Amino acid sequence: LKNGKDPFKLTSIDELGSHIHLIPAEVRGFFMTHRTRVQWVLLFIFLALPWISIQGQPLLLLNIPQREFIFFGMLFKAHDAPLIFLLLASFALGLAFVTAIWGRVWCGWACPQTVFIEAVYRRIEILTEGSYLQRRRLQTGPLSFGDVGRKLLKWILFVTVSSVFAHSFIAYFVGSKKLLVMMQNPPGENWTYFVMVLFFTGLLLFNFAWFREQFCVIMCPYGRIQSVLLDASSLAVTYDAERGEPRKGSPLAGKSQGDCVSCQRCVEVCPTGIDIRNGLQMECIACTACIDACDEIMTKLKKPTGLISYKTLNGEPLRIVKFKTLAHGALILLLVGVLFYNLRTREPLNIAILRAIETPYVVSKDEKGASQILNHFRIHMTNQTRLDSYYSIRLLPTETEQGFQLTMAQNPVLLKANNTETSHLFIRVPQEKFPSSGQIQLKIEISDSENKIFERELTLIGPST
Ligand code: SF4
Ligand code: SF4
Repeated sequence: LKNGKDPFKLTSIDELGSHIHLIPAEVRGFFMTHRTRVQWVLLFIFLALPWISIQGQPLLLLNIPQREFIFFGMLFKAHDAPLIFLLLASFALGLAFVTAIWGRVWCGWACPQTVFIEAVYRRIEILTEGSYLQRRRLQTGPLSFGDVGRKLLKWILFVTVSSVFAHSFIAYFVGSKKLLVMMQNPPGENWTYFVMVLFFTGLLLFNFAWFREQFCVIMCPYGRIQSVLLDASSLAVTYDAERGEPRKGSPLAGKSQGDCVSCQRCVEVCPTGIDIRNGLQMECIACTACIDACDEIMTKLKKPTGLISYKTLNGEPLRIVKFKTLAHGALILLLVGVLFYNLRTREPLNIAILRAIETPYVVSKDEKGASQILNHFRIHMTNQTRLDSYYSIRLLPTETEQGFQLTMAQNPVLLKANNTETSHLFIRVPQEKFPSSGQIQLKIEISDSENKIFERELTLIGPST
């Protein structure tokens, strides 16, 4: 036990494993002001992103049924999976890089779990049920008629904002225009998405209104690997024990009492319910609330602020250049370099030609009775640009001179920006041109509206002798 408490026991779970609903005290201060601004900007970005388009293409669209992703107007399909991997790996390493220097700044400032709870759900609670003291009374004391009304209003607002966020979330997967159309039609016409919106509304409600800090404390994988990501020179929210101890009321506090007056304000404001004076803990999401709370107390006591502060774990100046950050930085540069190289050299047209699966070839007669071998292919073309384009498909002149013919139901093919079309392609070859091996290699040319030419090789098969 430390100061009468078990520092290893989770503050938000009781002896039987049930959730203790924490009600942290409100706090004002330098960090709170700046965090609130960042949270509003992030919320705005989350709500606005699905509505932004570049040249008619959404800025961000994750079309999972079609296995398509549009990122800053660029289309990525299933064949671009390596690029998506590079993007995600860069992001994960970027997070590790930031953590090695600035600690859990992601958790306290930008994680959706913190942003939604602090900027929206906690504010609704304060708006409807009052200060933390009033809410704590509501949690334990008997409820009056007015209290029930306040709770009801709180839950109505919770459901409303959860529904708005769920719709906004779904817009990332279906696009804002389609979402608007679906919202204007009866649910029966879009059952799948209607059920998904209901599911996400329920999930957000459960997570942000009830589960809250439990996610950070017992579920978040990022929180669990902090001991690997942080080192002694990383920034963290720390208590200056040298200055604060022996704290007021401690049996050790005599004439040489430290600056901590044991007001418990730092514990009262903590959203995960921990006491930072026990040292760095896995539950600390670096929200900085305890810094503002303690600074407020120190200011009232006319003592220097910073008894709890953002500083490195070893107390030395912040070091950005160290082995860990150099290693992360080099890997990030490598991944981002490969990603940009691939994006720059990516062809504006993706072409996949597959042999039709029925008969490998067909022998037919032309109008003069000469035998011909017919090969059937499927050509999938994806216009990876932001402009619509026509694509003409033809054989090389040397092939047509030998009597080879290419036939398609429609040629040229019109492809809208970021769209895929599949067409049937037939190639007819006089049988006497077929070598004894029964195989012919040939090339086809595909030119777009700007006369950019793409070449692809095909293997024709026929009877071998
Ligand atoms: S807020 Fe500051 S003074 Fe009060 S208990 Fe926490 S560390 Fe001590
Ligand atoms: S200890 Fe301080 S920084 Fe950490 S979660 Fe609690 S209030 Fe936030």
